[in-house]
Amino acid sequence: MKHRLTITGLIIILITLLLVPFSTTTAQQTTPSRAIVRTDFQFIRQGRVGVVHVTGADIIEVRAVFQERVHYFYQEGNDFVGLLAADMESDIAPYEMQLWIKYADGTGERIDQDIQVESGEFGRSDVTISQRLVPLLDQKVEDAEMARLFNILNRFTPERYWANSWFIAPSTDEPIGWFGTYRLFNETYWKRHTGVDVRMAIGTPIMAMADGRVMLTEMMDIRGNYTLIDHGWGIYSGYAHQSEFLVVPGQWVRQGDVIGLSGLNGRSAGAHLHWEMSVAGTWIDPETFVEMKLVTPDSTEIVEQP
Ligand SMILES: [Zn+2]
Repeated sequence: MKHRLTITGLIIILITLLLVPFSTTTAQQTTPSRAIVRTDFQFIRQGRVGVVHVTGADIIEVRAVFQERVHYFYQEGNDFVGLLAADMESDIAPYEMQLWIKYADGTGERIDQDIQVESGEFGRSDVTISQRLVPLLDQKVEDAEMARLFNILNRFTPERYWANSWFIAPSTDEPIGWFGTYRLFNETYWKRHTGVDVRMAIGTPIMAMADGRVMLTEMMDIRGNYTLIDHGWGIYSGYAHQSEFLVVPGQWVRQGDVIGLSGLNGRSAGAHLHWEMSVAGTWIDPETFVEMKLVTPDSTEIVEQP
């Protein structure tokens, strides 16, 4: 019995040896990947972020193309980490993530993987603004403001500007409006909500969500007095409708610093703070981003995604 198994084993080895050279030349089989890809999620909801890890020896750079946007990965030792952002307007469908990996020896590799995007389960609400603000219910006004903002939001700063801690909400006050909501203004004009609204009396301090660099403080048509902070790694936070700016462009801020006071200018139905975040050039749900905890390079604290 033992003898026979040995012969069978030998035959299998011989067949394998004979077949291998043929199979590698005939089949369109590439060499095994030098990188290991791991996702921290099974799917990404519309308007949310999923974390992708790429690990392997001698990797010097990783980029992903997902939903036609480039996502740059940052390095943590041997691990390259990417924050994959699903557009809130994207269809519920699988999307191809193309990973482009560059190695120290000058070679490169592309790995494709399907990423499922699921519903963001967005609500709807009615908003009534004063007649004086009705001219702001205009797609051209929206487009001009978006062009101004995305000129900055599409830029990727490779440095990580914040320190050990993850992002915090800019206010502990109660939210009154949620990300992604389908909003009907004055019973006529539909608009998606790009951030979260918090009811705040005029003059209430607004905190920076994380360390970063102030990119602009500007009076905008819809957002009113608006501050935009670059946190590095393609992550930005914005704070709208302020009564007073307390920072200037180019200034470095620390997490929790008071960057301004809340107000009600711009296209606002009442005193509140609208805060929003962009990752890899698309608006994402800032509340789920704050809840999502990630290990950062200098941090020993291990935290998990919800
Ligand atoms: Zn808002």
